[in-house]
Amino acid sequence: MSITAAQACFLCSLPKQSITRSSSPLNPSFPRFISNSPVFAAPSTVTPVVEMGHIERLTSGFEKFKSENYEKNPDLFGELAKGQSPKFMVFACADSRVCPSVVLNFQPGEAFTIRNIANMVPPYNKTKYAGVGAAIEYAVLHLKVENIVVMGHSRCGGIKGLMSMSDDGSTSTDFIEDWVKIGWPAREKVKSTSGDLPFDDQCTTCEKEAVNVSIENLKTYPFVKEGLEKGTLSLVPSHYCFVTGKLETW
Ligand SMILES: [Zn+2]
Repeated sequence: MSITAAQACFLCSLPKQSITRSSSPLNPSFPRFISNSPVFAAPSTVTPVVEMGHIERLTSGFEKFKSENYEKNPDLFGELAKGQSPKFMVFACADSRVCPSVVLNFQPGEAFTIRNIANMVPPYNKTKYAGVGAAIEYAVLHLKVENIVVMGHSRCGGIKGLMSMSDDGSTSTDFIEDWVKIGWPAREKVKSTSGDLPFDDQCTTCEKEAVNVSIENLKTYPFVKEGLEKGTLSLVPSHYCFVTGKLETW
């Protein structure tokens, strides 16, 4: 079933029926944040490659992976059965268009991946962001990854949401705005230095500035700081644009 722009939410292409609160302007209870016009929904002309049930799609996808990848690489998967030793940790957005294993061609075992709204790395906080902290701690201290990549991306709904928030920082969503506010310093920088640019250009700039904020936040984790000082760890800011097909690192 294809999804029309009118049915989609601001983040990507969630069908309206999957959202508990209607996005219709007829329903004033819907959060202001989400009632922004649909952002990057799949065009209505998009149709699935193969029409099949959800379970069949999963099982056929796995069968394809198994026959074309798993069974053809017994040495690799034999080694991975014993353990993992990825060189990379990657923070990427949960956006369905930016899977790092696809975009960066990572093979199984190569990248320890964390995906969340707008690829944010929060600052060290043992209670508020324990899930992210646990992942970084595990990757750095136990897996001993050598690189932490933060990959922003084009037309990020989370960043657009951050840029669309009220200047007073008030929120109307249960989770989303509090989460993307991790990138608030990026938003403030863009508003002050690029506030005269068209809004979409401000968002593009913020996608990259938010990566810089996440890179700085990574340095607040003691084990990351130690790895940087010892030279065993590097931090890699990056941005993937799926409009032009370009990957930028700096
Ligand atoms: Zn995104």
